[in-house]
Amino acid sequence: MVKNSGPYELLSDVIHKDLCIGCGACIDLCPYFKSYKGKTAMLFPCTFSEGKCFAYCPKVELDLDELSRHCFEAPYSADPLGHYHSIEISKAGREMGGTQFQAGGTVSAIMSFALKKGYLDGAVLTGREGLLPVPCFVTQPEEVLKCATSKYTAAPTVSALNRAIQDGYEAIGIVATPCQAQAIALMRSSRLDENDCIDPVHFVVGLFCTWSLDFRAFEDFIEERTGTESIAKVDIPPPPAEIMEVYLANGAKLEMPLDEIRKLTPESCSYCFDMTAEFSDISVGVLEGRPDMNTLIIRTERGQKLVREAVDEGYLIVDGIPEDAMEHLTWASENKKKRALKKAGDAGMINTPDAEKRSMVRLRGEILERIMVASQGCE
Ligand SMILES: Cc1cc2nc3c(=O)[nH]c(=O)nc-3n(C[C@H](O)[C@H](O)[C@H](O)COP(=O)(O)OP(=O)(O)OC[C@H]3O[C@@H](n4cnc5c(N)ncnc54)[C@H](O)[C@@H]3O)c2cc1C
Ligand code: SF4
Ligand code: SF4
Repeated sequence: MVKNSGPYELLSDVIHKDLCIGCGACIDLCPYFKSYKGKTAMLFPCTFSEGKCFAYCPKVELDLDELSRHCFEAPYSADPLGHYHSIEISKAGREMGGTQFQAGGTVSAIMSFALKKGYLDGAVLTGREGLLPVPCFVTQPEEVLKCATSKYTAAPTVSALNRAIQDGYEAIGIVATPCQAQAIALMRSSRLDENDCIDPVHFVVGLFCTWSLDFRAFEDFIEERTGTESIAKVDIPPPPAEIMEVYLANGAKLEMPLDEIRKLTPESCSYCFDMTAEFSDISVGVLEGRPDMNTLIIRTERGQKLVREAVDEGYLIVDGIPEDAMEHLTWASENKKKRALKKAGDAGMINTPDAEKRSMVRLRGEILERIMVASQGCE
């Protein structure tokens, strides 16, 4: 069991070390931590020596065995894609009324279906105000489409889950990036207090994520080129396209090389080893070479049941994953793990002895070794 700490350790070990990704897990639990334009800040000093803010942070003392046992009743393995039942490809079905999605619309279809069936009393999503991604809580299936499309900057989405729980919602669905999904898994395993373990999260839909953008750096970058008010949509088409597409309100489209965009990634993402949102019920990404389809990883019984029902009732269409897409997915995920764990290891942030300082991540030595060996040759 990981030793918990408090707000000062969160400041010194995460925020001041540039490891904070602004996931929102420490926000709206108390009056002290707030998010402003993607940055998390402590407004006033808090003297508690232990807090949920520290316990829920995915960037410090993340014990992968503990989390994996809680989510999947199995220790963390070296599988590049995490624990899963099956991997398919998917897109929104006829019940989504022919809506044009950025990718396959799988996420919106699943969330709409779950709200329509009454499995959820609310869903935490991420909308946007101008370029800024904003957490959004919806209770009606029709509201899900307002939040469709990817916002490529890190968002404090989990803060809306904190608020929904305080408001008494008991069956909440949430769409989360891998770091946000880790924070939610920490909340659900509630390492603060075993008696506090009611679980209002009905399921988590994870998004694949290789990197996100620092909001302020991205805002400045776009401002210099076109102004942020005129942006209608931002898209990163699946490989092999190596561009970001920025659509303007007047219908014009700008293309920006991904090499330039990647420079705007926060330091925190370079230590992130999870590409496929391993701690979720279902994970969804784009399918290489097929912008109209998603890759769909089903990880839990609950996720499996939801997907099968959504298919039977016309919300979702699924198919088998092509062999080359499966190979590339595995390679990309393995590559991200190796890169991040190597960097974290070199910085002394993995399995740091308790007596020295807090660790960023903990996992069994044999698993770490297997990950590093399995992916030899990855760049
Ligand atoms: C920062 C980021 C990086 C990504 N990187 C990759 C990648 O490397 N490879 C890959 O295959 N896929 C990546 N994705 C996922 C991909 O872009 C799609 O979100 C995913 O395939 C689902 O597509 P969809 O058509 O089903 O989504 P939609 O039906 O359009 O739904 C998208 C959902 O994403 C949620 N969302 C949007 N932006 C954010 C955000 N910033 N934080 C949290 N939730 C958000 C919204 O709530 C919405 O419900 C990334 C997504 C994000 C947000
Ligand atoms: S919980 Fe999230 S927002 Fe808070 S310090 Fe950790 S990474 Fe940053
Ligand atoms: S790369 Fe990792 S830390 Fe960065 S936004 Fe994606 S999931 Fe979060």
